Amino acid sequence: CGICGVVGHRPATPIVFEALRRLEYRGYDSAGIATLTADGTIDRRRAAGKLDNLEAVLKADPLTGTTGIGHTRWATHGAPTEANAHPHAAGRVAIVHNGIIENFATLKAELESEGRIFLSDTDSETVAHLVDFYLDQGKAPRDAAFAAIKRLEGAYAIAIIFQGHDGLLIGARHGAPLAVGYGDGEMFLGSDSLALAPLASRITYLDDGDWCELTPGNVIIFNGDGQEVSRPIQNIAFMA
Ligand code: GLU
Repeated sequence: CGICGVVGHRPATPIVFEALRRLEYRGYDSAGIATLTADGTIDRRRAAGKLDNLEAVLKADPLTGTTGIGHTRWATHGAPTEANAHPHAAGRVAIVHNGIIENFATLKAELESEGRIFLSDTDSETVAHLVDFYLDQGKAPRDAAFAAIKRLEGAYAIAIIFQGHDGLLIGARHGAPLAVGYGDGEMFLGSDSLALAPLASRITYLDDGDWCELTPGNVIIFNGDGQEVSRPIQNIAFMA
């Protein structure tokens, strides 16, 4: 149960994978990574069990791209299988989620009535479909993410990537921790400072209800009302 994300200029997969290693201490039953490939499509690898299993999958079938998200899962809804492992993808979106979406059944019924097909037993997959639903309504990624976040009840730390939007990463937190790490031409999301420590010496913990848009050169943080806010930046010690 940890998430991380990166937008930058270096291959995302090793960065995300090593961050997942540093989040291993939290416990997990499966793991996965999704990236945007050079042509802007979403690609992902997932594996039940240990990170070594994901590593083997990645070795056999590497994942390219400089924008990526990763997840270690502690199953709450759905067995610890590959199909239930994150990232979850729907249409033009992939997401990772820690926590529980309390109103997922209502949202899922609504999305299924729109003809959407769910491929997992998780509460989390509703978030992917919801963001993609708002993209279908013509909203830009940031607006689609905000529209989706406003519908969510429960506890969550979420990271989202968007097909065709290389260098864009959106994060949100409510009742679960999420921090932003500032790099040089690259930005990071992580569940805690341990995940981010070797990557960024400056981090910001999002406030509850905050969400953020990361691009390689910039971070914008919004509160739950959608207003741009500034949160304190902390200097952390290098802990690699
Ligand atoms: N509720 C989600 C699931 O079961 C996320 C669990 C977690 O925090 O890892 O997939």
